[in-house]
Amino acid sequence: MHIPSLIEKKRDGHELSSEEIGSLISDFTNGEIPEYEMSAWAMAVFFRGMTAAETRHLTQAMMDSGRVLKYPKNSPPKIDKHSTGGIGDKVSLVLAPLLACDEAWVPKISGRGLGISGGTLDKLESIPGFNVNLDEKRALKQLDRIGVFMIGQAEDICPAEKKLYALRDVSGTVPAQALIVASVMSKKLAENLDRLVLDVKFGSGAFMKTRKDAEQLAAAMTSVGESMGVKMSHLLSSMDEPLGRAVGNALEVAECVEILQGGGPPDLVKLIVDLAKKVSTTPRKDLEKRLKDGTAWKKFVSLVYAQDGDATALEKILELHRAPVVQPLCAKSAGVVKKMDAKLIGRASVLLGAGRQKTGDTIDFAVGISGIKKIGEHVDLDEPLMLIHARDERSVVNVLPLLGKAVKMG
Ligand code: URA
Repeated sequence: MHIPSLIEKKRDGHELSSEEIGSLISDFTNGEIPEYEMSAWAMAVFFRGMTAAETRHLTQAMMDSGRVLKYPKNSPPKIDKHSTGGIGDKVSLVLAPLLACDEAWVPKISGRGLGISGGTLDKLESIPGFNVNLDEKRALKQLDRIGVFMIGQAEDICPAEKKLYALRDVSGTVPAQALIVASVMSKKLAENLDRLVLDVKFGSGAFMKTRKDAEQLAAAMTSVGESMGVKMSHLLSSMDEPLGRAVGNALEVAECVEILQGGGPPDLVKLIVDLAKKVSTTPRKDLEKRLKDGTAWKKFVSLVYAQDGDATALEKILELHRAPVVQPLCAKSAGVVKKMDAKLIGRASVLLGAGRQKTGDTIDFAVGISGIKKIGEHVDLDEPLMLIHARDERSVVNVLPLLGKAVKMG
């Protein structure tokens, strides 16, 4: 295949065939296409977009670049959720065990933090011993025993996606809608699911800034999923303020423990139950009951043990990962919170060390922000708007200007 001709074809706004896309992806995966050519092609896609058929072919080609999970005959329905990512989004840690209380399997393959969005794997790894690298045989055995696993993407699952994502990250082509759809859906389809719910975020802390863009992304992902035989559903949810009250790995695990023990911030609990309802056949009140009566908590404890984690650490995770400096950011006047900007809080949390500033950076599980007030809440003069958990005083000074800008009172 003559790659420059394919780049030109896309550059000039023409549709690529299934064969052309298939060859492009397989040759790229095999190292036969130089990165400068693939980057040029990705930029052409960024400007020209892709038709629904092209997006479907690209997703299929990326999925076919690796292994697809296989299950025994007559196994329960396989269900999962995908979120487009946000600040304080710890939904998976509660939703996966909650769904596994159904007669269903939840084969969850998650990612690490990306930019200002936290990652499920990083949060799980703040639990001492938790192993996110199970081989397929062990993962399947675990599904059969407890109905859920939570692992990372193995090398041989969607290798083309991994390679293309790394290239997009350094070539300004991450926000191309067709490339996002193919990237997300190839990984989810490799889980070989029956049902998938999408949580598509919009707002300051999300990829998609407007509800309209989020709607378009949801429609494109739904179309690809349905064409491949998956029952799709979705929610659009705002990411203008962080989800729940905590951002940072151990702080978020602690918030999940609260929810699994029947408490937790109402916005987060509502979103979890709303998402569960989309893929579960259990009535809403029973899903809520499983969070209140310890059923989902017990499932989470089994999951942690099954993956070599120390479940006795869960209820004291904040003692295990205690930041040396905890400083409140206090309200300078009494009033109602009008703004609690997710993007700025996400950036501050990365600067504190809860996320990576470059690939390979290590994560500091203890740091982050907790006790975040919600938009619409009333605060008194000098009442803490949030607590900053930092490694040292200098880090606090570093993030104060950002956090100051994140909040507006009315
Ligand atoms: N998350 C992904 O997995 N891929 C994208 O392209 C964007 C967000």
